[in-house]
Amino acid sequence: MSRLAYSSSASYRGGLGVLKIEGGNLIFVKRSGMVNPKDYVVQTIPIKAIRSMSVQGTMKRVLVVMVDSSMHSGIPRHEFSVTSPEQWIGAIQSEMKKVAEITQSPQPTYIKEVVREIVKYPCPYCNSLIEVTSSRCPICGAPQKK
Ligand SMILES: [Zn+2]
Repeated sequence: MSRLAYSSSASYRGGLGVLKIEGGNLIFVKRSGMVNPKDYVVQTIPIKAIRSMSVQGTMKRVLVVMVDSSMHSGIPRHEFSVTSPEQWIGAIQSEMKKVAEITQSPQPTYIKEVVREIVKYPCPYCNSLIEVTSSRCPICGAPQKK
């Protein structure tokens, strides 16, 4: 179950490659070379481990992703050079929502409805309705047969 939600070319720690959202992770894949092109995953950040995101820089703008170090080992700060960091923030935020929906899906609530059925019958003396459980008619006081 790995769906590709978003991807664009990016650079990360000086390496050129592709940044993508796949299977609940933010993944940076680097291309090794032109002669023997082989992609390899440089960084995999679980979307749910992302604590905050921001866009930094003026000329060369970068997407800064801060990771909760208790949820993902390694350095907590990651800088990705992408063409449109704002779009990336939007894409990651929508993925965060999806991940949250999967992990925090509301538990179905089952309400057991207890219906207590009270059977009534007419009193043979005064004809008022009496519960079968009562030994005497509450209206005329006549004893009721069990
Ligand atoms: Zn009665």
